[in-house]
Amino acid sequence: MQKIRLDIIGDPVSHSKSPIIHSTVLTELGLDFEYRRVRVKKGELKDYIDEAREQGINGFSLTMPHKKDIIEFLDYIDEDAKAFDAVNTVKVKDGKLFGYNTDGQGFALAVKNRGFDFEGKNIVILGAGGAASTVALKSEIEGAKKITILNRTLQSAQSIIEKLGKCEATADIFNTYAISKALMDCDLLINATPLGMTGVDKDFEDLSFFDYLRGGSLVYDLIYNPEETSFLKEAKNRGFEILNGFDMLIYQGLWADKIFLERDLDFPYLKEKIKEKLKNF
Ligand code: NAP
Repeated sequence: MQKIRLDIIGDPVSHSKSPIIHSTVLTELGLDFEYRRVRVKKGELKDYIDEAREQGINGFSLTMPHKKDIIEFLDYIDEDAKAFDAVNTVKVKDGKLFGYNTDGQGFALAVKNRGFDFEGKNIVILGAGGAASTVALKSEIEGAKKITILNRTLQSAQSIIEKLGKCEATADIFNTYAISKALMDCDLLINATPLGMTGVDKDFEDLSFFDYLRGGSLVYDLIYNPEETSFLKEAKNRGFEILNGFDMLIYQGLWADKIFLERDLDFPYLKEKIKEKLKNF
């Protein structure tokens, strides 16, 4: 059996959970593999690619600062990566580089597995950073009717809105009044800010906007540590369905493994195995 050789590259790269996710999958599948964390500084991507080709690396995941820089080296780029202008997964085959973005797939799968269908729905996103951009663009690809992005810095929300061509899209400032207004016809509310995350000293100061969210809506926090942020606790207490960011994290990794290994995987089984591993980490 041929050894599978995968890397995660970035700078810094030590914090990434990718090695745990991928090593668990490869171990569960009984494959012979080597998984490396490789620190690749900005400007050193070309050297890494040459080395990867020479050493017969089968694929690599990318984190900061390479997600955009890799694009000029690719022989193929998938629809999501093109839309997000960012690549997090590269499959190396016959010396050619195939680029994908699995973050959007991770997000969409997590939401769909909770029984949510994006088609014709209204989505409200709090925050306008990298994660908010992925989530907004993927929601549009999945058929959302209307997307509202509320952010502290209005300009960042407007920049994402400008990329949304197919659905109704609005940007607004992040405050209780504007959020409340947006929630009146919302089906899926997403927190894509770090408010309430372990290690971040700021949290939502006022969650009264939940008064305006209609019953049956799904409330999603992209944060997975803690498992239940104050945002999710409040939503749960008010009877809303809730979802944290754990599934998105795991599914984006599993989707990458599907690409690396060119085979279907038992996502529900592997998700539970990865969850166990990450909890002990
Ligand atoms: P980012 O690019 O740094 O963006 C952070 C966003 O939050 C910005 O829009 C920022 O507003 C806003 N923000 C920060 N502090 C705030 C505050 N005190 N009040 C109001 N807004 C505030 O971060 P990111 O990469 O998008 O990540 C955002 C969150 O998603 C993080 O919690 C991250 O852990 C999570 N995430 C989860 C997954 C997953 O797989 N589950 C994947 C990616 C990210 P300004 O523009 O005004 O600065």
